[in-house]
Amino acid sequence: MQGKKQYQEKLFTNFQLSDRVPSDNIYRKLKEVLDLQFLYTATAKYYGKDGQKSIDPIVFFKLLLVGYLENQPSDRRIVHMASMRLDILYFIGYNIDEELPWHSTLSRTRQLYDEDVFNLLFKQVLKQCIDKGMLTGKRQAIDSVYVKANAAMDSVKDILDDAEVFTSQLKEDEPKDDANKPEGTKPQKRSNTNRASTTDPDSRMSVKPGKITKLNYLSQLSVDTSSYIITSIGAFHADKKDCQYLDAVLEKIDNNLKEHGLVVEEVIADANYSSSSALESLISRGITGYIPNTGTYKPEREGFTYERENDRYLCPQGNALKFAGYREHHGTQKNYMSKRSDCKNCPIRTKCLGKSDYKNLVDSVKKPLFDEMHKRMNEAYGKQMMIIRKSTVEPIIGNLIEYLGMRKVNTIGIKLANKCMIMAGIAYNLKKLIKYGGKCFWDALLSLLSPRFVFSL
Ligand code: SF4
Repeated sequence: MQGKKQYQEKLFTNFQLSDRVPSDNIYRKLKEVLDLQFLYTATAKYYGKDGQKSIDPIVFFKLLLVGYLENQPSDRRIVHMASMRLDILYFIGYNIDEELPWHSTLSRTRQLYDEDVFNLLFKQVLKQCIDKGMLTGKRQAIDSVYVKANAAMDSVKDILDDAEVFTSQLKEDEPKDDANKPEGTKPQKRSNTNRASTTDPDSRMSVKPGKITKLNYLSQLSVDTSSYIITSIGAFHADKKDCQYLDAVLEKIDNNLKEHGLVVEEVIADANYSSSSALESLISRGITGYIPNTGTYKPEREGFTYERENDRYLCPQGNALKFAGYREHHGTQKNYMSKRSDCKNCPIRTKCLGKSDYKNLVDSVKKPLFDEMHKRMNEAYGKQMMIIRKSTVEPIIGNLIEYLGMRKVNTIGIKLANKCMIMAGIAYNLKKLIKYGGKCFWDALLSLLSPRFVFSL
């Protein structure tokens, strides 16, 4: 007989939330794994002894986590979603008939707590991963991604330093007859030095290859290659290069790992992190870097051989180009020059010199650093490191952007953007923590293979 369900709303129901959340539910597992009691002490300084009770700090952080785990980090949507989901209510410790915090409370509390509290939570989750034996800390893969700021390009205006500039700017803005403009006057190029967003002045104009210019933040993150756990994540200004942030990222990793006795030995990154200061930073920290040199690096000059012991080049005709002094151009450079008398009757003079009377070669003083890196990257182990980089940090960035709410920050200012990125990193690590079952593929593979075989790959 065909059944037909009749719905009649009950005034009282016999109902237990925990019975309705299955044992394999992510929020049930997280509730069992997460111990956030330390948050009461960490946030006590933000509250007085009297007055209206604030949101429970644990509930606040759990709700933020829900936003990233559900890829819906908007405060309004988080609260709406929580009110509709039994598993989320169970996770945050609310009954179905209890009133949830107002969405603006999340926004205000996010602003109230310093970044330190968010970092503390990140470290706590990282500690749980370390205690479970997931991390070795030895090898870190570093990469970055632009994260869209909460501001439109329409909000970008000229930066006006003082009233005088403002007045002259007003005059400049008055309609002008283009015909009266002095010849050769070009419109000022739009850049982060002369323009800023009025909505979010911390965001920066930047562009991905093939895409239009947007206001972004730059998220820098590092991943432990032994179990794909994020060891550091944070927001940076998007108008600088990756290599300018490498030292700051290494410092963050060190801060997060050293208290657990983990020491970074190797760092893998792409060519955007290659610069003399970045390589020096790695050396000063005793870390072996695997960072390909940029396209402008030339390991050899065609036909010219460098003699390290004599610090000179030998030309195709066997004549010496001696060191002739230093010069400043994009950093300190070394100058090598041939003798005019050697070149005077050379049979390949025109091809080698063009219209000049002598040959001049210029090298960065830091070239030995790049030479060493070039050698390392061309060894079998260096090539292996590049494969590992691609299979660890790149998919994790994709995961954060596509599934963990990091496509865009919905806050204003770099401090809040940093908090958002830390929360996305925590959400990712928690997912790994509750799924963890053993060694990662690469470490299992590398430990199985003999070093000899690995190098012959
Ligand atoms: S032109 Fe001068 S530098 Fe060039 S190959 Fe001849 S001798 Fe050497």
